[in-house]
Amino acid sequence: MSTFSAPKGTYDLIPPDSADFLAVREAISAPLRRAGYGYVETPGFEQVELFARGVGASTDIVTKEMYTLTTKGGDELALRPEGTASVLRAALQANLHRGALPVKLWYSGSYYRYERPQAGRYRHFSQVGAEALGAEDPALDAELIILAVDAHRSLGLRNVRLLLNSLGDAACRPAYRAALQDFLRGLDLDEATRERIEINPLRVLDDKREAVQRQLTGAPLMRDHLCEGCAAYHEQVRTLLTAAGVAFEDDARLVRGLDYYTRTTFEFVHDGLGAQSAVGGGGRYDGLSEMIGGPALPSVGWALGVDRTVLALRAEGVTLPTPSPTDVYAVPVGEEARGVLFGVLTELRRAGVAADFAYGGRGLKNAMKSAGRSGARYALVLGERDLAEGVVQLKDLHSGEQAPVALSSAVAEIRAKLS
Ligand code: ATP
Ligand code: MG
Repeated sequence: MSTFSAPKGTYDLIPPDSADFLAVREAISAPLRRAGYGYVETPGFEQVELFARGVGASTDIVTKEMYTLTTKGGDELALRPEGTASVLRAALQANLHRGALPVKLWYSGSYYRYERPQAGRYRHFSQVGAEALGAEDPALDAELIILAVDAHRSLGLRNVRLLLNSLGDAACRPAYRAALQDFLRGLDLDEATRERIEINPLRVLDDKREAVQRQLTGAPLMRDHLCEGCAAYHEQVRTLLTAAGVAFEDDARLVRGLDYYTRTTFEFVHDGLGAQSAVGGGGRYDGLSEMIGGPALPSVGWALGVDRTVLALRAEGVTLPTPSPTDVYAVPVGEEARGVLFGVLTELRRAGVAADFAYGGRGLKNAMKSAGRSGARYALVLGERDLAEGVVQLKDLHSGEQAPVALSSAVAEIRAKLS
C-alpha cells in the first residue's frame, strides 16, 4: 500500500483481469471495423456547453453527473460524460459531413460521471461507441444493432436482451408529448418530477421508482401515436433485424427523452447485473447536429459499456481465451551465458515469439520455478558448458523432455516447433 488509493468510484485494471477489458474492446470494435467504421479519438474534455446542448440541459448527466472545471484561462470545461456529442462536434469541425454520407465512426475510451458508486456504476468507466452520421435509412439503424449483437455473440454472451422502441419524429412527437403531459399532470408526483413533466416528459416514463411506475400503467404510449412515416420506418427496422436472426423485445416505455432523439431507440440489458442492468444503448438523433450549431444531419449510434460487459461475462461464467503471454522462458546460468542468452531472447521476440527472461540473477532452481509459473511451453537454459559447445538446452515444460540445440539455429528451431 502507498499513501494513496484510486479515487472513490474508480478502480484500476490489473493483470490478469485487465486482459478481459482489452478483449472486450477488441470484440466490440472488430465488427465495426469490418463494416466500414473509421476510428475517431477526441479530447477527454470539451466545453461544458457542448454537453449541455448535446446531451440535454435537463438530463441527469448534465444536471448532476458532470465533472466541470474552470481553466486558468477562464474556459469552462467538462470531462466528457459520453461520446456522441464530441464525435459529432469533431465530424462537423473536420467537415466530414460535406463528403460521402453516411460518415461512419467508432471510438473507445474513458468517460466520467459524478455518480453514486455501486457495482456496475462508477465515476470513471469505459465505452466503445459507434455513430453513423448523415443518413436516414432503416438499414443503417439495423446495421448498428446487428453489429452490437454480433459483438456480444463473439464474446460468448448469451443472455443479453435487446429492447426496442420508436420515439417518433417532429411530425408525430409533439402531439404525443402533449397527450403524455396531460396524463402526467394528473398524477401524484414530487416537485422535481413535476418540473420534468414540463421540460422532458418522456423521461418520466423512465423513472425507476416503484411509486412512479405504478401510476404509469395507463400512460399514453408513443407507439400508438406514430405517424405513417415513423411507423413504416420502424417496421422496416424490425423486419431487417428479424431477417438477420436478431431477437428483440418491443418496449413501448423505452425512452431517451430529448427532443433531438427520434425514431429508433434501443437498449441492451443483462439480467445478471442487478440494478445496473444496461450494458449499452443507443438510437437515432436526427436533431442533435442542429442543436450544436451544425446543419441537419440525421444520425444513429450506440455506446456499449465495457465495464458492465466484463461483469456480464463474469455473471455468465464466460472465460475468454487468453493466449499464453509467454511461449519461451530463458534461463541463463553464469554471467557470460547471460549476455548471450539475452541476445537470443531479443532475436526470438523480433521473430515474433513471445519470450521472457529470468531477470534478477536468481539461482537455477528458482528461475526454473518462474519458468513453470510463466505458462511458457519451453524453457531455454544456457550454462557455461553449453556455451563452450555452442548449444543451448531446450526443455519442453509440458513433457519434461530436454535436448540440446545448436545456438545458431535455436530461434529457427523454436519457431518451427511452435508453429
Ligand atoms: P444507466 O441507466 O445505467 O445510468 P445510462 O443510460 O446513463 O445508463 P448511457 O449514457 O446510455 O447509460 O451509456 C451507455 C452505457 O455505458 C450504459 O449502458 C452502461 O453500460 C455504461 N455506463 C453508463 N454509465 C456508467 C457508469 N457510471 N459506470 C459504468 N458504466 C456506465
Ligand atoms: Mg446514467
